[in-house]
Formats: sequence, structure tokens, C-alpha cells
Amino acid sequence: MTRYDIIVVGAGIAGSTSAVLLGRQGFSVLLLDKALFPREKICGEGLMPAGATILQELGVLEELSRQGARPFQGIHFCLPGGNRVALNFQEVSETASGWITPRVTLDSCLARLAEKQPSVTFRQGFAVQSIQIRTQGVEVEGLCEGIRHSYTARVLVGADGIHSRFHCGFGIRRHTLSSQRFALSTQYCHFKGPPNLVEVHCRRAGEAYVAPLGDGRARITLLLFKQAGSAGHPGLADFYFEHLKLFPELVRQVKNPYPEEPIGSTSPVSLRVSRCHASRLILVGDAAGAVDPVTGQGMTIALKDAQLACRVLEHRLPAGQLSSQDLATYSTQREAYFDPSFKLARLILSIVKHPFLAHRASLALARNSAVRTKVVRMAVEMGGSARLTRKDQLHLLAGI
Ligand SMILES: Cc1cc2nc3c(=O)[nH]c(=O)nc-3n(C[C@H](O)[C@H](O)[C@H](O)COP(=O)(O)OP(=O)(O)OC[C@H]3O[C@@H](n4cnc5c(N)ncnc54)[C@H](O)[C@@H]3O)c2cc1C
Repeated sequence: MTRYDIIVVGAGIAGSTSAVLLGRQGFSVLLLDKALFPREKICGEGLMPAGATILQELGVLEELSRQGARPFQGIHFCLPGGNRVALNFQEVSETASGWITPRVTLDSCLARLAEKQPSVTFRQGFAVQSIQIRTQGVEVEGLCEGIRHSYTARVLVGADGIHSRFHCGFGIRRHTLSSQRFALSTQYCHFKGPPNLVEVHCRRAGEAYVAPLGDGRARITLLLFKQAGSAGHPGLADFYFEHLKLFPELVRQVKNPYPEEPIGSTSPVSLRVSRCHASRLILVGDAAGAVDPVTGQGMTIALKDAQLACRVLEHRLPAGQLSSQDLATYSTQREAYFDPSFKLARLILSIVKHPFLAHRASLALARNSAVRTKVVRMAVEMGGSARLTRKDQLHLLAGI
């Protein structure tokens, strides 16, 4: 049986990026995913500037651009009551831009890059079914084309998304915080909207995210609170359109209400776990905790996690010195950028669905340049030094 240094379970953004970075350090890596690529993933598809910088460092941004990814310059919130709040990245950095990139393209591109690393083996169509963590190492068993295989390694990287199997056992507890929210997503052609901005239309029932894909196409993702219905509705296209009508300004912009692409649905959309490590295990991306999509920061966090996990492993694994303290440090360092995003999501959600609060927040952002700059910097830098203090939050709620 081949023994690897590291097995990475899940080849989404977090898993493939981890495999690329660990492979570049010379570790032998086995990357496993149950899906066959290219595969779809429901997502708003807007990557924030800090995430785009990591893709640039990885060397994939040009390739993505050739495949149709497009830069965007900011996020405009269209608030209940008709106010708009425009947050433009260039208010804090002239060169900052986010990227709109279809997930099917982005995830395939990263998985291909991982596969190109000489010390990385990528097995797709491999569903991991059982994991044993012992003092001497880890063993992963699963099915590929109906045949059972098992592999061993020194360490596991768990990158299997929000429904991660690492949340049962391993001493990691799962706190699902927004099971009351679900998402419906599809693409439209002939959409008349701004070409280089992501728009977030907010209502009490939830939000609609519009990401322009070029050539008049746009992805429209609805994030709804469960009172609005349930994602398991039999006629998903009717259900989607019924809820799109909550946003009349968008209905006016789509030529044909029924999109050509099937509607994708998913729930929950955010999650916290008690810790993102266990003995010989590091969790990355949504498996380690997912922020609500309202911040647009999930993909950036997945990329940052991969960098952080690689940093911990590259320093400690070669000498066989990966201690429980190193793993705990990973969890603490991850929390330092995850927690502010998580809290920002909670604040935005509590404001945008109430016309009264939304109006006050829009006044505060127009009048108070210090708070406004912090909000834009948090969006651009993610994990930087900008933080909203209690006083800033009071300014937003009071409109001053
Ligand atoms: C509706 C919605 C909109 C969003 N919009 C945005 C946005 O605009 N911008 C943004 O930055 N983020 C957004 N996000 C968040 C973003 O999609 C996630 O944070 C990101 O996909 C996390 O990547 P990941 O690699 O951790 O997980 P995933 O992309 O979910 O990858 C997990 C992988 O693990 C594999 N896997 C699972 N189980 C197994 C198994 N047993 N064996 C083998 N493989 C397995 C899966 O096949 C999958 O390929 C959104 C999320 C949602 C739900």
C-alpha cells in the first residue's frame, strides 16, 4: 500500500489549493474527490480582491481570464426602501479588484494545477467512506468505480465542504447557524445590468446576488430565509421565479423568466465548528466553518486556509514535529480572519432586511467616512487590521 505524506479529502478551492501548495513544498500528496471534474458548485461566483491576489500568486488568474473570468470593481447593495449603498474597492486601493469566475471553471483550473505537481496524485470519482486516525498515521478508505481502496498517510487535510464527514467524531462539534437559510441559483442570458459590479438586492425575505458573467449573461443567486419556502420544492424553476418576483427590478431585467440552466439549490449556507483540527487532521475551507455568503468571502477564506495549513505543515512535518500545539495554533490563526467575517455577516444580515435600519446604515456610510473606509477595507483586505468596533456598529445602526 502506498503511504503518502498527506491525504487531502475534497478537491474544491480549499483542497486543490492545499494540494498545489503542499506539492510545491515537495510533500507526496494524494488528493481525493468523489466528483468527476469539471463539476458544478452552487456559488454567487464573486471572488473578493484578497482572494484574487492569492490566485495571482498561484499563477492561475491569467488562465481564468482566458476562460472568461472577469474583474469587478465593487459591490452595490440595493436596500429595501430604494436606497443604494455603493462600496467600490478602489476607494481604498487603486489596484484592487474582485473577480467573477464560474465555479466550474475555477475549481477545474485549480484541480488541474494540483494534478500537474509532480508529487501530487489526484483521484477523482473517489468517495471517501471511512477514516481512521491512529498514533502512527491515518488511513482513508473509499470507493472508486465500485472498487474499494485504502490509503495511508502521516496527516489528513479535510477539505470536503460544509457537509464534511470530519464533523462526526474526531472531537469536532458542528454548530449549524443558518439552517433557516437556503440558496437557489441559476444563470440568465440577455440580462441588462451593470457589467463590472456585483449587486446585492435586499428584502426582508432574503437577498438576490447578481454577478455579471459577460455577453449579457448573469448569475442570479437567491439567499432566502426558510419562512420564504423550502429548497426541496418539486417545481424548482417555478419556485425560483416565484421568489425572483420579490425583486421586481430584477424581473424587469430578465428577458425570459425561465432560465436555460437548471436551478441549483443548497442549505445550510453557513456553519461554525468547535475547532478546525484534531490529532493528525487539519480542516480547511467550508469544512472548517463557513461564513454566510452575504460577505462574499467564503472562497477567499478557503484560499487563505490552504496557505495557512501549508505553512504549518511545511515547518513541522518534515522533522516529524507536528504537535497538538501546532494544530491548535492553526485553529487560532484561522479564527483571527474567520471570526471578523462571520460577525460582519451577522451584522449585515441584521441590517439589510429592515428598511429602517438599512436606511440608517446607508446614511452612516454616506456621512461617516471613517466607518465607510473600514467597511470597504474589510471587504478588500479580509483578515487585515480593519475591524468594526462597537462604536462603529452603533454609528451604522444610528445613521451617524
Ligand atoms: C449560495 C452560495 C453562494 C456563495 N457565494 C459566494 C461568493 O459569491 N463568493 C465567495 O467567495 N464565496 C461564496 N460562497 C461560499 C463558497 O462557495 C464556499 O466558501 C467555497 O466553495 C468553499 O470551498 P471548499 O473547497 O471548502 O468546499 P467545496 O467547494 O464545497 O468543495 C468540497 C469538495 O469535497 C468533495 N467531497 C465531499 N465529500 C467527499 C467525500 N466523502 N469524498 C471525497 N470527496 C468529497 C466535494 O465533491 C467537493 O468537490 C457561496 C456559498 C453559497 C452556498
